[in-house]
Order: sequence, then C-alpha cells, then structure tokens
Amino acid sequence: DSWIEVADLRKVYTPRRSEPTTALQDIDFQVRRGEFISVVGPSGCGKTTLLKILAGLIPYGEGAVRVAGRDVDGPMPEIGMVFQEATLLPWRTILQNVMVPVEVQGLSRDAHRAQARKLLEMVGLDGFEEQYPSQLSGGMQQRAGICRALVHDPAVLLMDEPFGALDAMTREYMNVELLRIWQQSGQTIVLVTHSIPEAVFLSDRVIVLTPRPGRIAEVIDIEMDRP
Ligand code: ADP
Ligand code: ADP
Repeated sequence: DSWIEVADLRKVYTPRRSEPTTALQDIDFQVRRGEFISVVGPSGCGKTTLLKILAGLIPYGEGAVRVAGRDVDGPMPEIGMVFQEATLLPWRTILQNVMVPVEVQGLSRDAHRAQARKLLEMVGLDGFEEQYPSQLSGGMQQRAGICRALVHDPAVLLMDEPFGALDAMTREYMNVELLRIWQQSGQTIVLVTHSIPEAVFLSDRVIVLTPRPGRIAEVIDIEMDRP
C-alpha cells in the first residue's frame, strides 16, 4: 500500500522576468507506509521543489501527487516538515514550540501535551521542556524541530537537509538519532540531502535526480540489516 504516490510529475517555474525553468520532469515514484526514502542530487536538481510540492507549499503543473490517499492541493495536516534551520520561536519554551502545530491546526492542547513530552523524551530533551531555544545547542534545537514536526502524528515526515546547518560531528550524531527516532515512531519519511553517504546510511531507498530538468536518474534499493 502506497502512502505517497507521485505520477508523471512535471514542474515548470515561469518567472515573470526570466526564462522558464523545468525543475522536474517525468517524476514517478511511490513510498510505502513506514518507508524511509532519500532524494539526492546536485544543487538545482529540484530536490527542494519536490519536497515543497509534497508539502503542498507550491502548486505543481502536471501529474498527480497523493499523500495518505489524498490529492495534495495545499498544506495538509497529514504532513510534518523539518527545515534546514530549526526555526524555533525564541520567545517560546521548547515545549511551547513543539506545540505550535497543535495550536495552528486547532487540535486539543490537553490531548497533545503528553505526546509532546513523550517525543521530547524520545530525543533526549526531557528536562529541557521549560527552557528557551537559545539555551540549547544547534543539534538540540533541531531535535526539538523534529518533535514539532511529529507532535500531531502526521502521516508523512518531510525533511529538507535537516542537519545541513550543523557541524560535521553533530550531523553524524543526529543521523544516528534520526534512525532511532524512525525506528521508534515507524514514520514514513522523505529526506532531501546532497550527501549520498548520508542517504545510504539512513534510507531504505535512494532516489537520485539529475539537474535541469530534474529527472530520476536511478533508484537505489539499500539492502541492510537494521540493528
Ligand atoms: P535543489 O533543491 O535540488 O537545489 P531546487 O528545487 O531549489 O533544487 O531548484 C530546481 C531548479 O528550479 C533550479 O534550476 C532552480 O534555479 C529553479 N527554481 C527553484 N525555485 C524557483 C523559483 N521560485 N523560480 C524560478 N526558478 C526556480
Ligand atoms: P537549495 O539548493 O538549498 O535547495 P536554492 O539556493 O536552490 O536552495 O534555493 C533557495 C530558494 O530560492 C528555493 O526555495 C527557491 O524557491 C528559490 N529559488 C531558487 N532558484 C531560484 C530562481 N532561479 N528564481 C527564483 N527563486 C529561486
């Protein structure tokens, strides 16, 4: 059963003052529930465009995009998104930051506060709930960002270079953390990265894109025994 379905997707940007760019062409793939896939390729191959389309943040021209059985036609509660920077609100505590999607979507705070605390504990941030973002390291802030993306139990977690702003060692550590989070949550994850080793380390399947226009060059199945 496919949790994400992308068929014959084509995306052309038509800026008013310059030539149109075909960012994506002939994109076809499916993601099963609980699967972890990565999208890799050089800068400009359309990775961010693909993620934004899945997230319903930009319209796509042609093709079909379905998430959790629904046609994507705008931002949907089925999606959780992690950006390159944690983008936590500095005036809110860590717990209050994690609760933001619950408030934005008008869900019950009481029902989700326990989930928020559980997620923070899962990523090793128990005890930091009442602290402010500036009191935490970059890696800790990004972990809080992951909790925020998961708090409303989305069908799919989308991540765009989530650890790109972190130093190499923290990044490596965070990748191991992410694998652990994935194993515990059973999330369906689409990760965009320019690092092939990272993609191979993390995912079940790696989709490699070519630039201009972004097409699927190959899909690599990663055979591995998870610990
Ligand atoms: P990546 O994330 O792989 O670096 P992007 O999705 O950012 O690739 O961009 C894919 C292509 O689309 C690039 O050629 C880029 O210049 C172009 N592009 C991206 N966003 C826009 C936009 N808003 N307007 C015009 N062209 C864009
Ligand atoms: P990345 O490579 O990290 O995905 P980019 O530098 O390609 O980021 O793009 C950053 C943002 O700028 C993208 O989200 C895209 O919307 C916008 N962008 C990229 N290329 C263009 C372009 N040619 N014209 C207008 N906007 C663009």
